[in-house]
Amino acid sequence: MQRDEPASGCLYLVGTPIGHLGDLSPRAKAVLAGATVIACEDTRHSGQLLSTLQAKGRKLSFHQHNTRTRLPQLLQALSDGDSVAVISDAGLPGISDPGEELAAQARCAGFEVICVPGPCAATTALVSSGLPSGRFCFEGFLPVKGKERRQRLEQIATEPRTTVLYEAPHRLLPLLQSLAEHCGSERPLQVARELTKRHEQQVGPTIAAALDHFQSLRPQGEFTLVLGGCPEQAPSEPDDQELLARLQQRIGEGASPSDAARQLAIETGISRRRLYSLLHQDPSE
Ligand code: SAM
Repeated sequence: MQRDEPASGCLYLVGTPIGHLGDLSPRAKAVLAGATVIACEDTRHSGQLLSTLQAKGRKLSFHQHNTRTRLPQLLQALSDGDSVAVISDAGLPGISDPGEELAAQARCAGFEVICVPGPCAATTALVSSGLPSGRFCFEGFLPVKGKERRQRLEQIATEPRTTVLYEAPHRLLPLLQSLAEHCGSERPLQVARELTKRHEQQVGPTIAAALDHFQSLRPQGEFTLVLGGCPEQAPSEPDDQELLARLQQRIGEGASPSDAARQLAIETGISRRRLYSLLHQDPSE
């Protein structure tokens, strides 16, 4: 038999729609309607949803800028016997949204932590991409610039599993360009736009195709990217020595090192960055 929910002293991470309101589950509705405290990423944003459900619980804002002050208050509410529900603006709390730290601290303090599962852009995009979903990794938002971004891109480029990324519309093109540079432009990619909404769309099947599309149509809406994993090196793939010889031949014919790497990248599907770095490797390595 199922337990009565929401229970006193229990923390509920509740999934809410990422677009389509029909995706709010009956269980999520019941927990939100009955919780005595509801922590919302944005109380105004969630206000309408909660009033439709006639949720009477005390609403508290809970976001990245007030986590430090809210965490002890929410733990105190649990200890006072409240049932506490956490929701983000959309999707699953704790996935690139507030929730992770509260879940960790609540669990550490001995409270029950329960997820009421619901939509998540990452898994929704993954399963509809047609790319391998048996093993995958989630990268969320990459750092916007600097060494940390470069390192993450380098790791993603050699990652054999499918990778899921989030990105804001105004940064989609720079991300596609970085992915092309690090992974080669023929790497499989599906860009999921406006999932579960009226203008839901998938753009792919490669980084080059997505770049082409969004260079002519300004990215608008919400985007989740699903990138195919780095293929195992095919046995017929030329080794570094051969690639270097082909690069040097082009340079001998007048191409700049960067053009030589670009041309060979197009020809072989190997990333331009990797080819370019061959030109700067110590021959004794
Ligand atoms: N917690 C959320 C979840 O479970 O999906 C993610 C929150 S994160 C702050 C917001 C990002 O998720 C957006 O910038 C976008 O990359 C992705 N996203 C959210 N809704 C989406 C949708 N309907 N279609 C495509 N991507 C979406």
